[in-house]
Amino acid sequence: MDAIKHECGLFGVYGSVDAAEKVYYGLYSLQHRGEESAGIASTDGSDIVWHKGMGLVSSVFNLQDLKLLRNSAAIGHIRYSTVGRSERQNAQPFVAEYSKGPVAIAHNGQLVNAVSLRRSLKRSGAVFQTSSDSEAILHLMARPEYCENLPGLLGDLRGAFSLLILTPEELIAVRDPNGFRPLCIGKLKDGYAVASESCALDQVGAEYLREVSPGEIVHINKDGLRTETFAAAKPSYCIFELIYFSRPDSVVYGENVHLFRKRLGAKLAEECPVEADIVVPVPEGGNSAAIGYSQVSGIPLERGFVRNHYVGRTFILPRVEQRHQKAEIKLNAISSVVAGKRVIVVDDSIVRGTTSKSRFGLLRRAGAKEIHVRISCPPHRYPCYYGIDFQIREELIAAVRPLEEIPEFLEVDSLGYLSIEGLLSCTSPPKDYCVACFAGKYPVPAEVVKKVPADLEEWEEKAGEHIIVV
Ligand code: SF4
Repeated sequence: MDAIKHECGLFGVYGSVDAAEKVYYGLYSLQHRGEESAGIASTDGSDIVWHKGMGLVSSVFNLQDLKLLRNSAAIGHIRYSTVGRSERQNAQPFVAEYSKGPVAIAHNGQLVNAVSLRRSLKRSGAVFQTSSDSEAILHLMARPEYCENLPGLLGDLRGAFSLLILTPEELIAVRDPNGFRPLCIGKLKDGYAVASESCALDQVGAEYLREVSPGEIVHINKDGLRTETFAAAKPSYCIFELIYFSRPDSVVYGENVHLFRKRLGAKLAEECPVEADIVVPVPEGGNSAAIGYSQVSGIPLERGFVRNHYVGRTFILPRVEQRHQKAEIKLNAISSVVAGKRVIVVDDSIVRGTTSKSRFGLLRRAGAKEIHVRISCPPHRYPCYYGIDFQIREELIAAVRPLEEIPEFLEVDSLGYLSIEGLLSCTSPPKDYCVACFAGKYPVPAEVVKKVPADLEEWEEKAGEHIIVV
């Protein structure tokens, strides 16, 4: 696992007395999807109240906050910034008042036409309060041509957007026509829950019903569920959700994440065999694939690393030096296990390479005789424009170095990646997946600047000079 930021997590509840409390617990289960900020908005049927702040769910909310949010419908959001600065004003849900009354919105994903949307909204008088791409959706909702026409509004958005929208009357769940980010619905005893991942439904005792379909709008209100379709496209589910982001106990795109990763490991053992004494996973990301690798290769699985659970996920730190420092204190190698051994170390990805290098170095320092790295996904050669934080090609190690040179950079004896064909062979039909970061074929064209600034304002300024349509 390398230093990658995830995007966001969503959780919503309609029709339950303690909706905000359930959302709080749901967000806890989704904490792996973002650690920068958290927020909950709830409604009593007439107004919307909210609380949000920077940091983990546990530090943003106390009992008093939850008491104030106590209502029968609520939505929550945890955030990692891909577009927009990491600061409180960008924390979601965004809450506003427009001609139809109060509304709150939470977004997981990234709009690839955010620059042009913001520009045209600004030209027509909109004043933005944040540097987040998600705020444009709120401004569009307020426009006369869209305030009674949600499908029309959604048809103007491009890219990745799973949305939760809360009004005093209903909770609305939306998934973009490509279905880039997951979103599923569960049934509570007294209402409904909607979550980025099914592990959060389990947390609040909701029974998994189904995914929100790509291009679907689900209205949840006092009359139950009502659905409509706003656009149709060939789905392109983000396969990296299954490889890396989602929790192993979640069901995403109909696949259990742990079992999927085990299949990746098994395929990897077939494609990249090597003689060795033990198979060691990089925790937690490599755990499931290492089981699959060990089972197929017959090489015993061993615990070669110990993880310090009191350190947050490596990629929450925005500065590169901070990331490295944290990677070092997060893991330690067990010398008694690896010393003198030929070790196959299984991980889920290498994106930039720097964190991986320091991890494999721990094995060498602990006395491993040989280190053979096996990665349960193909090399990342292209940026992601759909909500994952690797948008600069020059930062991707497999884009800037020939594959045969990477083992030398990582200071390991060999390196093997799963092939794209091998990866797709592990998915269940109909295999409608986005693999753009591996293959470079983008399902939705993006407005891209050569170097993506942290801040959308700056991005807007530069966009005129540098827009490249991929
Ligand atoms: S480019 Fe990669 S990370 Fe981005 S949506 Fe596609 S598969 Fe996921």
